[in-house]
Amino acid sequence: MSELKIRGLRVSFDGFTAVDGVDLDVSPGDLRFLIGPNGAGKTTLVDAVTGLVRAEGSVRFDGQELLGRAVHRIARSGIGRTFQTATVFEELTVLQNLDIAAGAGRSMWTMLRRRKDIPGPVARALATVGLTDLADSPAGILAHGQKQWLEIGMLLVQDVKLLLLDEPVAGMSHDERQATGELLQRISEERTVVVIEHDMDFMRSFARSVSVLHAGKVLSEGTVAQVQADPKVQEVYLGH
Ligand code: ADP
Repeated sequence: MSELKIRGLRVSFDGFTAVDGVDLDVSPGDLRFLIGPNGAGKTTLVDAVTGLVRAEGSVRFDGQELLGRAVHRIARSGIGRTFQTATVFEELTVLQNLDIAAGAGRSMWTMLRRRKDIPGPVARALATVGLTDLADSPAGILAHGQKQWLEIGMLLVQDVKLLLLDEPVAGMSHDERQATGELLQRISEERTVVVIEHDMDFMRSFARSVSVLHAGKVLSEGTVAQVQADPKVQEVYLGH
């Protein structure tokens, strides 16, 4: 399983420092939540790890330096992310979305084949994200939560080792949140998961570890209990 080691990460936009010297270690199989007020730098940090913004410092993934690599090379090293709005192909079926993610999308045979022919990794991803019964449905008819799960499935079929998820439960019902938390726990048995989250109840229920960002820096880190008991965190969240 994969580990992420970030040292002295810094990202600036026109003189404004959005990520200001962040050190972060995510161990193999962790289910790490990144929390912090709006503007804390959470998304920018993930953008830096995935190569979307220029950054200084060091981001090592399984020992390899990622900073300075092109986005597609970082993706090829086994890192995948989702965004707050799911980006699935609405006109294609759930299965076709997964096939395309798996890199098999160009073959006509793939598009025509029957369900019994679904290759192992795609069938496993369908089962893991709970969409087997909807494999032949257009992704456009999926509920909001199911689209997020499909997107996560698209990372699983690419054999992503580190999943970076941006607010995966935003807009979900209580039951969908519960199912998503359980899904992330299952995934983290084999892969490393980092979740940007605003939903504190969801974080408390499912985080294995937490990093609190504030003004571009790591303010606090540890288990849910440790972070919640930290006076610095209480000050940022509650203003006392
Ligand atoms: P979070 O995800 O914690 O809400 P962000 O990483 O989105 O925070 O933003 C951190 C800070 O960086 C914010 O003040 C935001 O306005 C700024 N920022 C983010 N992206 C850009 C950009 N492309 N250009 C200028 N400022 C940006």
